[in-house]
Amino acid sequence: MKINFIDLQAQYKRYEKEINSEVLEVFASAQFIGGEKLNSLERNLAAYTGAKHAIGCSSGTDALLLALMALGVGAGDEVITTPFTFISTAEVIALLGAKSVFVDIDEQSYNIDPAKIESHITERTKAIMPVSLYGQCADMDAINEIAAKYELPVIEDACQSFGATYNGKKSCNLSTIGCTSFFPSKPLGAYGDGGAIFTNDDELATKMRMLLNHGQNERYKHKYIGINGRLDAVQAAILDVKLKHFDEEVKLREEIGSRYIDLLEDADVITPKIADGGTSVYAQYSIRVKDREEMIAKLSAAGVPTAVHYPVPLHMQEAFKDLGYGEGDFPISELVSKEIMSLPMSAFLSEAEQDFVVDAIKD
Ligand SMILES: *Cc1c(COP(=O)(O)O)cnc(C)c1O
Repeated sequence: MKINFIDLQAQYKRYEKEINSEVLEVFASAQFIGGEKLNSLERNLAAYTGAKHAIGCSSGTDALLLALMALGVGAGDEVITTPFTFISTAEVIALLGAKSVFVDIDEQSYNIDPAKIESHITERTKAIMPVSLYGQCADMDAINEIAAKYELPVIEDACQSFGATYNGKKSCNLSTIGCTSFFPSKPLGAYGDGGAIFTNDDELATKMRMLLNHGQNERYKHKYIGINGRLDAVQAAILDVKLKHFDEEVKLREEIGSRYIDLLEDADVITPKIADGGTSVYAQYSIRVKDREEMIAKLSAAGVPTAVHYPVPLHMQEAFKDLGYGEGDFPISELVSKEIMSLPMSAFLSEAEQDFVVDAIKD
């Protein structure tokens, strides 16, 4: 059996007619930037998450960058985040001349440990940026409580958690600003790059809309130094189709995720722990194994593709050596980065395929 890590072709086949027709409409209208397709997607994203404002943008990375820019983060400022994440989270902080202050993760959820945040807050702290990794929200109530005490804004890096819930609310609508990604392999994926920013704050929303369009408030009148961070109409049209089917996909992902947990119960691996009151969209289905390289080789020989998210925590990346961190500074991030690996996961992974993966692990 040949297994795909993520089966995007199976998904396209299901929605092919709808997607093709929407995309052809964009081509015929020649409205490639902005317009009704983008407006419709933004309305539907806002309704889906419950956030007052949803703003399409060019990628998850740019969503995070725009959020920090809107909050005025710049040289000399500090932003508290986790070292166990994709590079974007800390990259955008550095791009603005600010400094990432890392806080280790919790060993169950792999998200920032709220109990360790407060001791890292200084006069220079400008924001807290938790990551909702692998599709499960960070412990946002605990984080928001600390942030409120110090009057700090919170940005949720929800690039992997669009569709997840936390105490009955949707990811992206749990803090000052939520940022997500529509990279093709994310739970809600475009057919190219894309992202979105969410907020309930009118002023921040207006500012972010200007920032992603070169800081313009009117054509060729620039209030801020911004970027070209727009989401194009073709991607918006595709996303709007996929959003209609998204709840059904989230349900399938949850079923597949729980089934993996059940099937792997007696295997010598650590399966994801989903905290009470929340759900995961399993952007990655990540397990921990003692001898990862051996397991990856064994699965690969059986025809099961895997990936590692992420093998090197950010405090040990060459690009961040100026931050002055070293090995041993974040023991849980380091431990998890040595043991973690992701299994094939998508809404349309069949039971037979899943059984095949599980048998290969247990073999
Ligand atoms: C994917 C991802 C990003 C970046 O999103 P892009 O759309 O690829 O720019 C940022 N943070 C996390 C945690 C991600 O997984």
